[in-house]
Amino acid sequence: MSELTTSHRLPRVAIAGLSLEASTFSPARTRIEDFHPVRGADILAGRSFWSEGGTLAAAAEWVPILQGRAIPGGPVPMEDYQILKDEILDGLRAAGQLDGMVLDIHGAMSVVGMDDAEGDLAVAIREVVGPEVLISTGMDLHGNVSWRLAHALDLLTCYRMAPHEDAEDTKERAVRNLLDRLTLPLDRRRPLKAWIPIPILLPGEKTSTRIEPAKSLYAMVPEAEASAGVLDAGIWIGYAWADEPRNCCVVIVTGDDEAVIIEEAERIAGEVWRRHEEFTFVAPAASLQECLDAAFASTARPYVISDSGDNPTAGGAGDVTWTLTELLADPRLASAELTALYASIPDAVAVQQCVDAGVGAVVHLEVGARVDPGPAGPAELTGTVRHIAEGDPDAVTEVVVQAGGLHVILTRSRKPYHLESDFLRNGLDPRSADLLIVKIGYLEPELYALAADWMLALTPGGADQDLLRLGHHRIARPMYPFDTGLMDPDLSARLIPMASTDCAEHTYLPRGTDEPLPPQPS
Ligand SMILES: [Zn+2]
Repeated sequence: MSELTTSHRLPRVAIAGLSLEASTFSPARTRIEDFHPVRGADILAGRSFWSEGGTLAAAAEWVPILQGRAIPGGPVPMEDYQILKDEILDGLRAAGQLDGMVLDIHGAMSVVGMDDAEGDLAVAIREVVGPEVLISTGMDLHGNVSWRLAHALDLLTCYRMAPHEDAEDTKERAVRNLLDRLTLPLDRRRPLKAWIPIPILLPGEKTSTRIEPAKSLYAMVPEAEASAGVLDAGIWIGYAWADEPRNCCVVIVTGDDEAVIIEEAERIAGEVWRRHEEFTFVAPAASLQECLDAAFASTARPYVISDSGDNPTAGGAGDVTWTLTELLADPRLASAELTALYASIPDAVAVQQCVDAGVGAVVHLEVGARVDPGPAGPAELTGTVRHIAEGDPDAVTEVVVQAGGLHVILTRSRKPYHLESDFLRNGLDPRSADLLIVKIGYLEPELYALAADWMLALTPGGADQDLLRLGHHRIARPMYPFDTGLMDPDLSARLIPMASTDCAEHTYLPRGTDEPLPPQPS
């Protein structure tokens, strides 16, 4: 039994978690090393607020165990997940008495052969730490919250901005909420949780908070949080590129006043549903050819085209060559009438060939399609090696090959290109190019700021924005936009009972206590 309030000792708070967003439509796999596991005190250095000198550094006796963070990719093989999970559980068993735990997750990890990986992890953690340890998480709004996950945790919050400019603030809020609740007597620490799944599943590129309707819907979240009796609120818009029964939008409001959290959760969920047909792409979206025609016709420079289908930050393998193949075949780029920068294709073999040939050499390469062959297979790339850069933590080695007016960045390992410095480091000035074609969805802030104009190309890959052509068959139905003309769903809030160690026995019902799992095709 904890005696925090009477002894004034610092709370003991464990930290662990696995962060990944995994496309089940990608043939790639995320292995242990892709999580770059960090252990012990090094975990504290990873976030400013509890690092040395940070505002919360002295607010608790931190017990950091294991933190893994992978860039988005494919699912985790079961044996890799089990090893990481066991290490977290062993660390918690060895930690001694705890008052709280920060579970640092994204919420869209998939494990091969398992549904609801975060739910599985949270239930296992709850069984080890027992019912009295308060567990808090600050998630990505693209994460999924099954009933099981919400049940195993005490405090849940998520980002309120996409792009996620408030990521660090959210992680800090999750920790502050936990520390605040730990000052209360044991019987008053755990807030009530109102949970509402909403049958919509949308790509992030339709739900950016820069535009409507997400802008107004997410503005409701801090309003709800400000209500008396409410601790926190969140809209988990969910992750569209995994085919699991849990995947859909979820609203959760936590607090101490049952009537108010139910009212606020239902108010937000009702408004999300009322406006669900208003979600559209953040930029004009079209086929690649239409995007190129628009870019060539425009005077806006640089003109940015988002090559969205194989976006590595949404879980695409990154080495689908369909777009590159189209660019190489375009006479306007081949003749160097226009200059274009293309980022990027991971291919360790092609990169080594370029390194061996050296800057200035002409190379004939077969690039990409080693993980995800996509519809195009490997691309034939003949050009001149213009630049070689070593040392990027994700890419490891980057080379630039010029073919006509097209400069192609190849990398040893998969890497997203979100920053101006990512191009400058490679001897490329994105501001002086006519076109910038990047494997990304909505533009991250620096690219958004430098784009004179932009379009989103609906290209193929594991993060295809055209969800209907991916072939989901395990998500709950009906689900918008897979089903249209839907009747209004039941959006009454379900109060989630307090977590207890028996939650493993709690039947896994992804959408509610009263809704059985929909029949699954075999
Ligand atoms: Zn996200």
